[in-house]
Amino acid sequence: FPAYFTAIFIITRVMSIMKISKPLDVHHKDIRAVDLATKLSVDPSAIESASRDFGGIVKAEPEAVLHPSAPQDIAALIKFSYSNSVPFGIAAKGHGHSVRGQAMAENGVVVDMRSMANKRRNGTGIRVSIDRLYADVGGEQLWIDVLNATLEYGLAPISWTDYLYLTVGGTLSNAGISGQTFRYGPQISNVLEMDVITGKADFLTCSPRMNSELFYAVLGGLGQFGIITRARIPLQPAPKRVKWVRLLYDDFSSFTKDQELLISKNGRKDKSALDYLEGSLLMDQGSPDNWRSSFFPYKDHPKIISLITKHGIIYCLEIVKHYDDRTKHTVDKEMEQVLQGMNYMPGFIFGKDVGYEEFLNRVRSGELKLKSQGLWDVPHPWLNLFIPKSQISDFNNGVFRGIVLERNITTGPVLVYPMNRQKWDDRMSAVIPDEEIFYTVGFLHSSGFDTWKAFEDQNKDIMRFCNKTGIMLKQYLPHYSTKEEWVHHFGSKWKVFQHRKYQFDPRMLLSPGQRIFNNN
Ligand code: FAD
Repeated sequence: FPAYFTAIFIITRVMSIMKISKPLDVHHKDIRAVDLATKLSVDPSAIESASRDFGGIVKAEPEAVLHPSAPQDIAALIKFSYSNSVPFGIAAKGHGHSVRGQAMAENGVVVDMRSMANKRRNGTGIRVSIDRLYADVGGEQLWIDVLNATLEYGLAPISWTDYLYLTVGGTLSNAGISGQTFRYGPQISNVLEMDVITGKADFLTCSPRMNSELFYAVLGGLGQFGIITRARIPLQPAPKRVKWVRLLYDDFSSFTKDQELLISKNGRKDKSALDYLEGSLLMDQGSPDNWRSSFFPYKDHPKIISLITKHGIIYCLEIVKHYDDRTKHTVDKEMEQVLQGMNYMPGFIFGKDVGYEEFLNRVRSGELKLKSQGLWDVPHPWLNLFIPKSQISDFNNGVFRGIVLERNITTGPVLVYPMNRQKWDDRMSAVIPDEEIFYTVGFLHSSGFDTWKAFEDQNKDIMRFCNKTGIMLKQYLPHYSTKEEWVHHFGSKWKVFQHRKYQFDPRMLLSPGQRIFNNN
């Protein structure tokens, strides 16, 4: 009985703070409303945690946080807002690894998706079908947990992100890219079916054949159309180990030519195709502590550092080939063949042979190291871009060798690697450049609490340079503050995106932190 009154107190308080005009009839023992209320928290620590993200730049307080134990709780919350005369914003928060407040809901309710992971642990969060080679995975699950659960059956998903402590719902709302994308497409190209709760509180299963408009809307949809509570992810037999190679270049054109040649072999059954390809910049960053630096043998650091001193920037091409017991005798030969004719600097080739899981989870050790030094929970003024192949050389001259070297403040990894447009599905909401090959460029800055503005200025300079010189970029993990910028971002897809919003979330409840439809 006391729980009942506590629940009524919380829901009435949330409603009064939110100025919801239609008060809940507290005498009417609507058990579902009470259930919901017991999962809503106005506890200061829950509010504080829902007001922050990995970016550490934006802060927006919700009025309450929902800790759902099942999708029905989320549906009840959305229904409550949808049917109220003054609706409130609702944001699913996966692992909160956005960098610009995208999972926040100022004066609304944040749905803490991870609390469902704990409550659904009795086997329902990740279910593997060995026969059909897929896993049914809760939207709240972390990819590391999906990996561990599927590896138990000798299986694994096909397309990844570099870092695995992100939720399935969070990456599918963006795209989910990494070194596998050139060959298998982003994670959004590797989904068979989903359960989604729309902004009208409809709980629907969708796939390319069933409710297909919703399916394509949600993939890369920045959380605008519904909350993903389950995704069916295709699996493949997991390799045991990987051959992991890095090659250094002083010449950008040789670096990109080699990258483009290597990604041209991308058939699913192509034996000569690589399993992973990325690239990054090596620069003098003052501190060697970025999560990619541990790869090179300590004894080789002086010769790499002297190259960097000489050239300012060195380009690092990174490739991987999987192998297992069946292919362990041939993998070295295959890698040799891949490397033949590559134009890296002689002598600047470095290799490792590691377990498959160690490779996929490679960012984790860097994370733990930075955490132990107090350098993980700092502001992250990131900028992620997609640049058409035809303009990547202009980008190198103007940005890498121009703005970046001149300002000389860049910290953290700077990624640059190509992918193939044909591996993306244009019906999905994700936006990419209109060219067959395009590059992703990621400035993954870490900054001090009082220095992040300098990185923001650099980011703005980069955007200004691209606008001025006509580089047709698209932002990945986009963030804009005006409607005009969003319309420009979506380009020819804007009308469809807007139409889908009216169709699936007409009261504009979902993911207000993206500031697409709630930016006034
Ligand atoms: P959140 O930040 O919690 O949410 C992101 C958005 O998705 C919000 O708008 C939220 O409302 C919405 N959302 C969350 N869950 C759901 C759901 N179940 N249904 C519908 N909408 C939902 N990205 C890559 O592609 N490749 C990488 O290699 C990569 N590496 C990263 C490394 C680090 C260290 C970090 C911090 C981020 C990285 N990212 C990468 C970016 C990352 O994919 C996105 O920021 C992603 O949104 C984070 O997932 P999350 O679970 O933390 O989502």
